[in-house]
Amino acid sequence: MSDLPFLPFTRPQLDEDTIAGVVEVLRSGWLTSGPNVLKFEAALSDYFGGRPVRCFNSGTCTMEIALRLCGIGAGDEVITTPLSWVATSNVILEVGARPVFVDVDPVTRNIDLGRIEAAITPRTKALMPVYLAGLPVDMDSLYALAHKHKLRVIEDSAQAIGSRWQGKAIGSFGDFASFSFHANKNITTSEGGCLVLPDASLLPLAEKLRLQGVTRSGVDGMDVDVLGGKFNLTDIAARIGLGQLAQLDTFTQRRRQLAQRYFTLFDQAGALAAQLPPRDFENSNWHMFQLVLPENGIARADFITAMKARNIGVGVHYPPIHLFSLYRALGFAPGDFPVAESIGRGIVTLPLFPAMQDADVDRVVQATLEVLQGK
Ligand SMILES: *Cc1c(COP(=O)(O)O)cnc(C)c1O
Repeated sequence: MSDLPFLPFTRPQLDEDTIAGVVEVLRSGWLTSGPNVLKFEAALSDYFGGRPVRCFNSGTCTMEIALRLCGIGAGDEVITTPLSWVATSNVILEVGARPVFVDVDPVTRNIDLGRIEAAITPRTKALMPVYLAGLPVDMDSLYALAHKHKLRVIEDSAQAIGSRWQGKAIGSFGDFASFSFHANKNITTSEGGCLVLPDASLLPLAEKLRLQGVTRSGVDGMDVDVLGGKFNLTDIAARIGLGQLAQLDTFTQRRRQLAQRYFTLFDQAGALAAQLPPRDFENSNWHMFQLVLPENGIARADFITAMKARNIGVGVHYPPIHLFSLYRALGFAPGDFPVAESIGRGIVTLPLFPAMQDADVDRVVQATLEVLQGK
């Protein structure tokens, strides 16, 4: 139906310097964790205001390691949102703890901080908020709650690199902050992640958990005193990350401009039969631009199919976690978190990535309006 090229909902952008840098790593003879990981960790630490940072090979294992560093395991509860990528709560199960979901705010689509206190029990050990689409929660309220109830905070900031709170980068303050560098995130290492730690004294354990629990000493000494995994980042990935981090501010600015353009065009078109995202141009890194389709309008599958016929990719982020079979088997059921369920049924992610042209936004808005009006 469309002669225009396919527009995906996101696409990573790698510059020639990064590509040349990766080729150099490939020629260097050192492919896995080495000098580039150390450089990337130092650059990330700079970005996060000098806080300790370690890299891992996914955002998922980064969160799992944060949980382990907090000593969270069997019998513990972690409060989180049902509206996220399933990794957020899978890692809670992975360490033997129980995810306790709290419904989301209908406007921000993030965990509703006002409902957290009612979910706290003597077993609650941590809060694990997610900054959906890069929009942080009210960080002052989050940390006030955590301090009041003496809870750890593991921020699932997977989508929030470049996001801010009162001018400060997310990850530059607070307790643990976990980031993902998956190819769909605002900066990528292809696969990878990093953890900002509250305290440098945790670094040796973080490093052991990252690589089989190994500690080396002297010329040939080696011991294993804790069960670690295989979570280290490669130098190839780290070199991509170094090139990407240098472009983070440019990427974030361009994403904001494109998001602004979406609002301007949707506003010009008048009342929209879908809910727009919160208009935040201070804090959000605009990881995604998401509409929520109305319950009584076009079926989401039909919307996605009609957009695809116009050569436009639309994503779904996310179906609510508690309704997956694995979670239903734990006792969760439809109706438990009605706001997340309603958003989860109608949410769609429109294309947004820094290499998009203004004309691409125009095209997406026009197609969206046509499809919503049943044309
Ligand atoms: C991407 C993502 C993760 C997981 O990151 P990976 O690097 O893919 O393991 C976790 N939580 C959220 C909210 C994400 O968007």
